[in-house]
Amino acid sequence: MAISKHRKPAPGKTVSSGRRVTLNPKVARRSFLKLSAATAALSGAAMTTKLTGKAVAAEATPAYKDSETVRTICTYCAVGCGIEAEVQNGVWVRQEVAADHPVSRGAHCCKGAGAIDMVISEKRLKNPMKRVNGKWTNLTWDQAIDEITAKLTEIRDNNGPDALHFNGSAKVSTEMAYLQRKFAAFWGSNNIDHQARI
Ligand code: SF4
Repeated sequence: MAISKHRKPAPGKTVSSGRRVTLNPKVARRSFLKLSAATAALSGAAMTTKLTGKAVAAEATPAYKDSETVRTICTYCAVGCGIEAEVQNGVWVRQEVAADHPVSRGAHCCKGAGAIDMVISEKRLKNPMKRVNGKWTNLTWDQAIDEITAKLTEIRDNNGPDALHFNGSAKVSTEMAYLQRKFAAFWGSNNIDHQARI
């Protein structure tokens, strides 16, 4: 904020002189840390209350017929937040936060809150797809593996293994990220990033 040394601003007005007035750095830093801590605490409390409230409200929803509740963890990062998974005939049909879980304590981040989408989302990919003339078309797994293998081999033969970067989705599980890491290592490159950092 800049304040004039000589002119008093009219009531309700601010006058700029170009002279910069700064706070004592130690005080500013302390205030910043206090503000940050307060903001984090308030955000956490708001998030926890909101998500916990949702979980409690959902308890009144009737269970799916013959379903069972399976206590598990979210696998979208190494934190390991608790999930109560409702399973019907072997299919995951509904997700709730494990309100008493010692790690997540009743809350999920946005990735974990939508973990079940990997199973039930209508947008979920169920087979390999390729864009042909601007239109997405289905491939068989054999077609996809053959095409991708040929293309990758061509790239490595012509430009070496570091010509590729393996970029995993934020919505792959920890186990999938592990396999992706192994694949990149066998491929011969350290050019990789995945859900833990995306
Ligand atoms: S992705 Fe989110 S909800 Fe899942 S374990 Fe990590 S922090 Fe928890």
